[in-house]
Amino acid sequence: MLRSVIAAAAVTALGIPAALAAAVEPPASAVQGAPDGAAAGSAGDTAAEPFDALVFSKTAAFRHGSIPVGIEAISQLGAENGFTVTATEDARVFSQRGLARYEVVVFLSTTGDVLNARQQAAFERYIQRGGGYAGIHAASDTEYDWPWYGELVGAYFSGHPAIQDATIDVEDHTHASTAHLPDRWERRDEWYNFRSNPRDDVHVLASLDEDSYDPGSGAMGDDHPTAWCHVYDGGRSWYTGGGHTNESYAEPAFLQHLLGGIRTASGVVDSDCT
Ligand SMILES: [Zn+2]
Repeated sequence: MLRSVIAAAAVTALGIPAALAAAVEPPASAVQGAPDGAAAGSAGDTAAEPFDALVFSKTAAFRHGSIPVGIEAISQLGAENGFTVTATEDARVFSQRGLARYEVVVFLSTTGDVLNARQQAAFERYIQRGGGYAGIHAASDTEYDWPWYGELVGAYFSGHPAIQDATIDVEDHTHASTAHLPDRWERRDEWYNFRSNPRDDVHVLASLDEDSYDPGSGAMGDDHPTAWCHVYDGGRSWYTGGGHTNESYAEPAFLQHLLGGIRTASGVVDSDCT
């Protein structure tokens, strides 16, 4: 049922209802803090080819309250930037046929064991055939017993301190998900610590400055990646640790970060993640 409701919302993406548009309208404070041109969808758009994105937000453990807002925001990004967005929590879409029409699968704050063995195998084949994966926030708090998935994401979540402001060092000023950001990106979110540092296996786009906030008991020290991408098993993977709060999805700079991640993972926009 949820699937049909959300799919119906996505179908109206060409003429987004005013209420939906208003829901993702950034608050005045966020607009004021954003550099010119940072508004989602406005930065140097050339006509990228259209593509189809699947947003998957099934949860088997903690459920983030920001999931509906995140789906709305990604649907709006799609409407404004020429890609379709289909949102579902029905894992049965993870079949060869079900995934075939999508250039990218977005795991939006999924948690726990969300796919069975057959669905996992279908997703592995999808990536191996050149598919794209974009993981947001709790996507790293998902499928701990499926090592292939852990490698696809890059690292598993280990814990987090309270929501607070932090400063992110942007390491890549070329990649479409971070090109619009300043060297030092200050924002408020729930900042994930990870079980392992993924730097040896991925291309780090941005990392947290642990001196700028209290990282809690799971601190990672001087090197704390928070967004990255890599080529994995024949497909493309992009991940960001941000996106816990509702407010994240009304932040122009964060939305542009997501847009760049989704586009590069889909393969329609080039990226160097080696
Ligand atoms: Zn969270």
